[in-house]
Amino acid sequence: MPTAHPSGWAHADGALRGPHWLREPADANELVPALWSRTATKTDGVLSVGGVPLTELVREHGSPAFVLDEDDFRTRARAFRDAFAGYEVFYAGKAFLCTTVARWLAEDGLSLDVCSGGELAVAERAGFPMERVGFHGNNKTVRELERAVDLGVGRVVVDSFAEIERLAALTAERDRTMGVMIRVTAGVEAHTHEYIATAHEDQKFGFSIASGDALEAVRRVLTAPGLRLLGLHSHIGSQIFDTSGFEVAARRVLALHARVAEELGTEMPEMDLGGGFGIAYTTQDDPSEPAQLAAGMSEIVDHECRARGISRPRLSIEPGRAIVGPSMCTVYEVGTVKEVALDGGARRSYVSVDGGMSDNIRTALYDADYSATLASRASEASPTLARVVGKHCEAGDIVVKDEFLPGDVRPGDLVAVPGTGAYCRSMASNYNHALRPPVIGVRDGKTFTVLRRETEADLLATDVGVA
Ligand SMILES: *Cc1c(COP(=O)(O)O)cnc(C)c1O
Repeated sequence: MPTAHPSGWAHADGALRGPHWLREPADANELVPALWSRTATKTDGVLSVGGVPLTELVREHGSPAFVLDEDDFRTRARAFRDAFAGYEVFYAGKAFLCTTVARWLAEDGLSLDVCSGGELAVAERAGFPMERVGFHGNNKTVRELERAVDLGVGRVVVDSFAEIERLAALTAERDRTMGVMIRVTAGVEAHTHEYIATAHEDQKFGFSIASGDALEAVRRVLTAPGLRLLGLHSHIGSQIFDTSGFEVAARRVLALHARVAEELGTEMPEMDLGGGFGIAYTTQDDPSEPAQLAAGMSEIVDHECRARGISRPRLSIEPGRAIVGPSMCTVYEVGTVKEVALDGGARRSYVSVDGGMSDNIRTALYDADYSATLASRASEASPTLARVVGKHCEAGDIVVKDEFLPGDVRPGDLVAVPGTGAYCRSMASNYNHALRPPVIGVRDGKTFTVLRRETEADLLATDVGVA
């Protein structure tokens, strides 16, 4: 049993155990399967994904690299599709989007959410069926809306009165119609392990149900001839582990849904409950399976609809992280290892790798926890508490705050971090003029390049100062 240490991470005896949830492994070589994509295995200490040893992958494609397990991604996408049969399942492209992934989703029958012109461009390039695209965002430009209308995007999730006006004008000008969902704030927000009912809903997204804005938005959409009202949309947050938070939100959204039927005589055919399903980044996380989530959400909605005597709208959900998150890991090469003395005589090992906050900003941005393993060899050394840090000019450039790695980790070793599929490559930057790493697909013992590594020529292409 892990125990909490109120006096901090440094014990009186000088040993360093890390945060209370961190499990000290008997053998630091061992993989924790729940954290890795389904084809990840270790043989003689060498990590393989999709049948490809990462030592070989790095020899061929260099380091650092994102490794995308095709089988894992598609299995997770299909698991959501099948568990949520009868729903429309939108993959949230902002988690990670490229033409390869868009094509897999199209083939496997999922729909796709985008929230910018750039993401829409990827969907277009991939030949993704536009009627299965949803367009999100609190500040879509007129140009982006025009493009959505011209491409025949299936639905726009409207987020402001100004946007309703713009979209109404655009569809009228073009004599087109557009399916519209109305993003509402239910006054419930998920904060990883807890839900916060925000009384004044102090954030930028959506129309407030409590203030009456949401009902007013419904009225305005109904009066625009080019806008086809599909339903209400609510997204309560991210890294949610069970369906309890959806209960309050679904109740509030369905109350408005019923009110629209009663007062305005319009039965909206659809309702979207958003995404945010959690994954395991470390051993402290225990996510639910899609089937459990589906059962929980359907039960909540059915119960509410029965109680209100209304028929159930067609539901949709928008998982991003829960599909792509576990299907990628990042492999890095170790450059330096530094032992640092802490109070109480404890020591921490700083393992510096050839990437960092430019390929994974989540640790610095959200204080996110990750795990890591030595990926290129077996070690007999006993586990030491390590911190995996990047090569950027920031003390906060941390990839993995706390992990037990073998005590002899040294320059030239490969270290892999699981669960980096969502919001890592998609949030990657060129900070310090870093070249963003490639995404290398793996399947059946073969690699294929999904996104190539950036080059200095890519970096300099936008710098027009010297001809
Ligand atoms: C971010 C977002 C999602 C996806 O969230 P995940 O945590 O990746 O599942 C879905 N819907 C909306 C509206 C979002 O903003």
